Amino acid sequence: MAAARVRTRFAPSPTGALHFGSVRTALFAWLAARHAGGDFILRIEDTDQERYIPGTEALIIETLNWLGLDFNEGPEVGGPHDPYIQSLRIATYREHADRLVADGNAYWCTCTPARLAQMRDAQRARSEPTRYDRHCLTRQAEVARERASGMAAVVRLRMPDGVSEWDDVVRGHVSFANADIDDQVLLKSDGFPTYHLAVVVDDHLMEISDVIRSDEWIPSTPKHLALYAAFGWDAPRFAHVPAVLGPDHQKLSKRRGARNVLEYGELGYLPSAIVNAIALLGWSSGDEQEVFSPQELCERFTLERVNAAAAVFDPKRLDDLNGIHIRRMSVDDLVEALEFHLPGTSKETRRLLIPMLRERMVTLADATRLCAPLLGEVTVDPGVEFPPKKVDQATAVAMIDVCIEAVEEGGLDDQAALLERIRAVAEGAGVKSRDAFRVLYVAILGTPAGLPVIEAMAFLGKDQSLQRLHQARARLG
Ligand code: GLU
Repeated sequence: MAAARVRTRFAPSPTGALHFGSVRTALFAWLAARHAGGDFILRIEDTDQERYIPGTEALIIETLNWLGLDFNEGPEVGGPHDPYIQSLRIATYREHADRLVADGNAYWCTCTPARLAQMRDAQRARSEPTRYDRHCLTRQAEVARERASGMAAVVRLRMPDGVSEWDDVVRGHVSFANADIDDQVLLKSDGFPTYHLAVVVDDHLMEISDVIRSDEWIPSTPKHLALYAAFGWDAPRFAHVPAVLGPDHQKLSKRRGARNVLEYGELGYLPSAIVNAIALLGWSSGDEQEVFSPQELCERFTLERVNAAAAVFDPKRLDDLNGIHIRRMSVDDLVEALEFHLPGTSKETRRLLIPMLRERMVTLADATRLCAPLLGEVTVDPGVEFPPKKVDQATAVAMIDVCIEAVEEGGLDDQAALLERIRAVAEGAGVKSRDAFRVLYVAILGTPAGLPVIEAMAFLGKDQSLQRLHQARARLG
């Protein structure tokens, strides 16, 4: 028999923006599908109305689009299993719940919250695990009458005896004694399914071959396996990926204020660098390579190489990768990408700035700060010493004078000659050229470091450069 087509899905609940942890799950599912030439599906799991935060589906789709994690089927794009939003599929879940009840694999339960609370208290008092005591299972005729008279009721899974086990692609062999597993509510009294019923029905109907999700769902998997068996369906493969921890080694979560991934875009991070950094949270190529384009990741990624240990997000690594991905961009792409961070500049201006910027940006937003002295007036921070440390007044004056002379005489075309003359003055005065150049940096850029100063002068042009040099000369007295 030919192997089934690889179909993976990302099934977020619309309860907030995506952070690195949730995007990591989406990315692994996308990579697994793309690696195998299969399909990646987006499904919105919005059956828990209490946790629903309006507008977050749109945010989720925007995030996936921005990162380039394209989905073959899902909301907006549609597909053969439409709709891909669970709240629009309620009738399907009800039919399936009815089928489970009819086959004796699930049962109605009219226990009130008060009775359930009492039951749990009593179990705790006896130091027993708290779980449903199957009070309703043996009185189904009575439960039917109660339902007919309008009593609220839920459908519970009748967890079978025995053991649940599976070979997890990430975790290896996992097994649970079913006796430890509660009779899960599948359909709530408001007629909505719980996650457990909806996820199994949809993963089956949508022909998902590989369920890739956070390892917090491992304890739920026995319930899901029981449902697959009850319906007579083959279960998919499961890959439970470990948690992503923040630099404080606490799990990244919305509740703990993990940052919305889209905000990284505003901060000047590239989608390709984020994808690269997130891929390395738990996955490694098996060799030394750490820098990958999304295309290379699709080629190299396999779930078998995902580590079962929790991964720690390191912001420094993201910064390093972002700088590398920026340097790999073509000039044309940078001209486009910098538009947001250099507002009001023309394409031509950005094209001239890029050679100076490229090596110096960790994020695209660095361009704003670095280019400010070239795009507006030079402002000297009162905290900046002038002349700078280790440079005496006379040397600073000589430096500025030689620059003025050189620019007036030779212009800015011969940058190498200008550099040589400044070096010679510094050397003659016994000042290290690094210190001497700080005089020029402050004069031209207002800060002792920044863009390469000779190139910056060439960008500003002869008049502007001379004006700044004269201003600086005046400050030196
Ligand atoms: N809706 C679940 C979540 O947001 C999906 C879990 C799964 O992938 O099965 O965590």
